[in-house]
Amino acid sequence: MAVLVNFKICDNAKECGGVAVCPTGALSFDEEKGTIVIDNDKCISCGKCERECPIGAISVAKNSSEYDKIKKEIESDKRTTKDLFVDRYGATPLSKFFMIESQQLKDKIEHNGIVMIECYNDDSIQCLLKSIPIKELSQDLPKDTLFYKLEVDEELIEQYKLNNFPSLLIFKDGKLCGKIEGYYSEDDKEILFEKINDLLNK
Ligand code: SF4
Repeated sequence: MAVLVNFKICDNAKECGGVAVCPTGALSFDEEKGTIVIDNDKCISCGKCERECPIGAISVAKNSSEYDKIKKEIESDKRTTKDLFVDRYGATPLSKFFMIESQQLKDKIEHNGIVMIECYNDDSIQCLLKSIPIKELSQDLPKDTLFYKLEVDEELIEQYKLNNFPSLLIFKDGKLCGKIEGYYSEDDKEILFEKINDLLNK
C-alpha cells in the first residue's frame, strides 16, 4: 500500500539498497534533487526495500492504520543521522583512533586503569544504529577507561580462547578480568553493562 522512509536516520544515498531492489520504481533516487523519492501509487507492498535497509529506516504499511502508526513512530523518533556517525561496539569502526594492531595489544593493556578491547571479525560487524555507542559502554566507568578495537588473528583467538565475536576483553591494571563474547544490540545493552560491571567487581 505504501512505503515510508525515516529520513531522520536515513543517509539518503544514491546507493540505497531499497531503491536498488524496488521492482516498480516506487522508491527511486532523484538525481536533480539529490534525494530518495517515494511514489506510493506504484508501491505494491512487497517489502523488499524494508528487508534491504540495514538501519531499519524503511517501513512498508499494508493498510492505512499501519501507515498512521509508522508515521507517528517516525515523527516521535529522537534519533538523527548523527547517531550513525559515532563509534560503536559491535559495528564497523568509524574512527581510526580506536583501531589497534595485534602487535600493539601488549602496550595498550599495560595501563593503570581499565582497558576494553573489542575483538571482531567481518562476520561480527552489525548495523550501526542497532549497535551500542562506545561512550555509553564506559559511561559509568572511570574517565580514564580506554577502549580499542582489534581485528582478530589466529594467535589472538588461541591466546584468549575466543569462540564468539565480537569478544570484549576487559583488563584492569594490566591484568585480564574476563571476557564477554557475542553480539549485544541496543535493546540488550543493559545486560552487557551489568556483565562488564560484574567482571570488574569480582
Ligand atoms: S514495498 Fe516493494 S514496491 Fe513498495 S517501495 Fe518497497 S520494494 Fe518498492
